[in-house]
Amino acid sequence: MTARRRLRVCVQGVVQGVGFRPFVYTTASSLGLAGSVRNDSSGAIVEVEGDARDIDEFLTRLRDRPPPLAVIESVETQQIPVNGGTGFAIADTSRTDGGRTLASPDVAMCDECAAEQRDPRNRRYRHAFVNCTNCGPRFTIIASLPYDRASTTMAGFAMCAECAREYTDPGNRRFHAQPVCCPNCGPTLHYRDGRGRSADRESALNEARSLLRCGGVLAVKGIGGYHLACDAGNERAVAVLRSRKRRGDKPFAVMVPDLSMARGTTDVDDASERSLSGPQRPIVLIPRLPGAPVADSVAPHNPDLGVMLAYTPLHRLLFGLPGDEPGPSVLVMTSGNISGEPICFDDDDALDRLADLADGWLMHDRAILVPCDDSVVRVVDGVELPIRRSRGYAPLPVALPVPVPPTLAVGADLKNTMAIADGRYAWLSQHIGDMDNLTTLSAFDSAQQHLQALTAVAPELLVADAHPLYRSSGWAYRNAAGRPVRTVQHHHAHIAAVMAEHGLDGSQRVLGFAFDGTGYGPDGAVWGGEVLVADYKDYQRVAHLKYVPLAGGDISVLRPYRMALAHLWAAGLSWDDDLAPVQACPGDERRALMRQLETGLGCAPTSSMGRLFDAVSALVGVRQVVAYEAQAAIEFEGVARHADAGTSTYAFEIDRSQPAAEIDPAGVLKAIVADLRANVPAAVIGARFHRAVADLIVDLAEAEVDGIRTVALSGGVFQNALLLRSAQNSLRRTGFNVITHRLVPPNDGGIALGQLLVGNAG
Ligand SMILES: [Zn+2]
Ligand SMILES: [Zn+2]
Repeated sequence: MTARRRLRVCVQGVVQGVGFRPFVYTTASSLGLAGSVRNDSSGAIVEVEGDARDIDEFLTRLRDRPPPLAVIESVETQQIPVNGGTGFAIADTSRTDGGRTLASPDVAMCDECAAEQRDPRNRRYRHAFVNCTNCGPRFTIIASLPYDRASTTMAGFAMCAECAREYTDPGNRRFHAQPVCCPNCGPTLHYRDGRGRSADRESALNEARSLLRCGGVLAVKGIGGYHLACDAGNERAVAVLRSRKRRGDKPFAVMVPDLSMARGTTDVDDASERSLSGPQRPIVLIPRLPGAPVADSVAPHNPDLGVMLAYTPLHRLLFGLPGDEPGPSVLVMTSGNISGEPICFDDDDALDRLADLADGWLMHDRAILVPCDDSVVRVVDGVELPIRRSRGYAPLPVALPVPVPPTLAVGADLKNTMAIADGRYAWLSQHIGDMDNLTTLSAFDSAQQHLQALTAVAPELLVADAHPLYRSSGWAYRNAAGRPVRTVQHHHAHIAAVMAEHGLDGSQRVLGFAFDGTGYGPDGAVWGGEVLVADYKDYQRVAHLKYVPLAGGDISVLRPYRMALAHLWAAGLSWDDDLAPVQACPGDERRALMRQLETGLGCAPTSSMGRLFDAVSALVGVRQVVAYEAQAAIEFEGVARHADAGTSTYAFEIDRSQPAAEIDPAGVLKAIVADLRANVPAAVIGARFHRAVADLIVDLAEAEVDGIRTVALSGGVFQNALLLRSAQNSLRRTGFNVITHRLVPPNDGGIALGQLLVGNAG
């Protein structure tokens, strides 16, 4: 028997609303320790008293086996006088200490809840809303602090006696799980179709499943909004949904009931399995298996499939439990909206806006307070690369390397997300979308208010993109209310974002490659192939892709053949009839384009790397016209992915006579045209081009004389796994420290994080 001790343990991180106090209670009780646990403004305070060995064991379990949703950032202990108390208590939760509660993201149904749902002896058998402290909706149902039932959309559902008993029992898995409910006291399912038929509860589910079986389109209410679902194996059903959604060729994501079905559809490796089955349950982009039971029109021309596992109890019921009539085993699950609009999350709005899209609606009476789209990730060399950080991740904070005053960064106009920060934490919003219409702007408004309510941060400073015409920046000026608005150059923000993610405090400069489609440059040009020496305060543009004319703006983005022709023209290569983009461009348009290029009329100079990928994709005949952003580059990567580049190499020329070196792709384009005429397959040309861009990055890094050894890769072009893998491996072999995105997307969805740091530096 060792001496009795008492410790005060301060735990910092995400420990509220995630079942942390019940975990502490059960752990301490099982070790026979006395004491208490309570929340405070920065985390949780635990006092434990008992045998020293038991206290050590308690601390070990606290650090090594916290509840799945808790993020423990630090554990500090302090010895205090023993007081001889017995028993362990959870301090009253109705405290009002004004502290900051870190709200949890929405979490996929846990295994224990799933087991209850399929157990005929359990009182939650077939319950569509089963949840516990380890799982269920959070972010999308909480209106404000503090996190208790009254501030969630479960407020109107009075708990039955049995649920109330679980809710108040500190030893129970449902202790203070705010959305807890059962079939007797929880929300109920409701189905209706366009012809006025309706059904409730099990019949509602049966109607919905039968609609899916028959090839219909079902609007189904999820966690962060409505999805449109149909049988992914039914070519006709998918084609109908595609045409109703006016979706072009943009891939649909699919949902499968479990991992084994994911494995039957895509080439799941260990890392993608971890991403698929994690509590966030994102859409994971995984190479599609030949012969996958999925219609071609789910993701036309795309080598990958965006796949996610069923993550709510309702999804699980849609696929059917053991004994149910079989239905589709892979479902298209796409946002319930018309392309470009925000996702529907309100029932009346869903009935109205989805009237021409859905054949039936599976709804329920638990309201969604804020919309939240599915997150999207891909895996590169075993590391998760975020493409869209939304449901399951928002509003988990990102730790900042340097403290900042209360700040709101409004992000950029494409794939908008915003961020609120205070001190060492930044909270990024869910995905808002492209800020090109009024509904997105109003979604931005409400997301901003919600994020501010959940974080209790009152921003004193606003940070926006330097683009004078960005709607996000306009919002910042309109809503400044006397607070200062600072602007940040787009690509500087990209590089700062990846620096922040990696905990860099900004005292050392990095060499940043910011490659994307578009961003406002201070010289008025459309930047996008930028090499910056940067810290948070400042940046120096040390190299960029040579300007080519972007003729007519968006029209050249939508028609990559125009970018190919512009690049050929800039490289001094003639528009010969054997070239794919020449054939794709109608004669009249070709003549008009030539006049534009020669006179510069209606042209903006651009150094965009994204547009160079578009141009080469068109040049090799992969894609001439796009229906969604980055389609040409995505398909080009898919074509090149498995090809062997061989020994032949393409090389960019670098003109160092200017203060910022000019990267000229003319030599690369010339070599590509020669390869095309030598009948080298597009796949091989693609592999050679990707390798050339990776080589360019290494060359520029090695030439940077300041002794900078840290290279940052950011911008939407680095969603390209082939390029990212090749560039980072080559850089690492050459001895560079390479930082890439793991927490926020390399695309404009990650901009707000960088804006926070730059806007507060200097
Ligand atoms: Zn659960
Ligand atoms: Zn109940």
